[in-house]
Amino acid sequence: MNRVSNPARYVLFEINRSLENVDNARGHFLKKSFYDLSYSDLQAIASRNNLNGTTASVLFNWHYKKKEIAQCHDRISKSAAAFFAQKFDFALPEIDVVYQSKKDRAVKFLFKLKDGYKVETVLIPFNNKYSICLSSQVGCAMNCSFCFTGKQGFKRNLTTSEIVGQFLNAWRWLATNRPGEERILNIVFMGQGEPLHNFDAVKKACEIFLSQHGTSIGMQKITVSTAGYIPGLERWSRETPGVNLALSLHSPFEEKRNELIPINKKYPLDEVLDFIDKIPLHKKQFVTYEYILIKDFNDTPDDAEKLGAILAGKSAYINLIPFNSFPDSQYRPPDWDKVEKFKAVLDTFKIPTLIREAKGDDVLAACGQLNSAAIGW
Ligand code: SF4
Repeated sequence: MNRVSNPARYVLFEINRSLENVDNARGHFLKKSFYDLSYSDLQAIASRNNLNGTTASVLFNWHYKKKEIAQCHDRISKSAAAFFAQKFDFALPEIDVVYQSKKDRAVKFLFKLKDGYKVETVLIPFNNKYSICLSSQVGCAMNCSFCFTGKQGFKRNLTTSEIVGQFLNAWRWLATNRPGEERILNIVFMGQGEPLHNFDAVKKACEIFLSQHGTSIGMQKITVSTAGYIPGLERWSRETPGVNLALSLHSPFEEKRNELIPINKKYPLDEVLDFIDKIPLHKKQFVTYEYILIKDFNDTPDDAEKLGAILAGKSAYINLIPFNSFPDSQYRPPDWDKVEKFKAVLDTFKIPTLIREAKGDDVLAACGQLNSAAIGW
């Protein structure tokens, strides 16, 4: 007898199925994600539960170095396999949509999280290799006026597993769709969100990326960008293991910067710069200062002179980024001759300066263009 011919049994079947789904979902949400664990967390768990001493290194190697999805049950003891299957969730954020630039080889991913929220991640190509631009929050509370993410407001912080998961699934997408190109050499926290506003999750994600047992990415290959959130910088100076720092500077004048980055009213640029100056740097390490050039707003020789004056003598590197338009943006990209003149002024201060070429702007993947609300949270 089929279900349709027996409506009562069919209703019962559907109820049971729904309850099963709820149970599965509950289990999924209650279990801690494996990808929230640093290597030292994993070692501590293995030791506390009397699991074989090699369990942590085997698991980290399998999931982060080999980047395998399936659990490696046959490579660890049966008791360890049973323990991790019962206690931990191995799911990662799912790729919902992939946008591939026709202009260059940039790729933007829209990731769907367990609670339905969505975030974007970008692979930025250079010579058949990639940098990855990771998001740290769903939306952003900073409300910068030149940034499409700022327009969508703040929903929540991402977990470490949701940050690490962007990297792992972008890598897998490359391995499947561009075999031989699965080389992500740099990680920049410049996607959606203010990373230092989600300090703990970002710090742990950095620890996971740096671990020699896993992806083993060098400190000099990871950059965390901030709008100048001093409470996060305070923790950064004490706790973060030597990865690079970038400051979204965008104007050397407090009034203009207030308009671009509202938290400048609370944490003014001169205090932020003083704070950054006190952070110890490694030999040959520098702080990157990001400067978005906006037509007839901050692209004059006066702006360049003042910028050069406040950064001269620091271990500084300037990225000049011609503004990338987004729907309803109030600003416009600068004329090219103004960009070149701006750089020429900075060159007189002998500060290394790069004009950054926009990548993926045809799919709204360039700097300042991310907005997962525009296509549904
Ligand atoms: S520029 Fe960065 S800090 Fe500012 S709103 Fe955009 S994502 Fe947030």
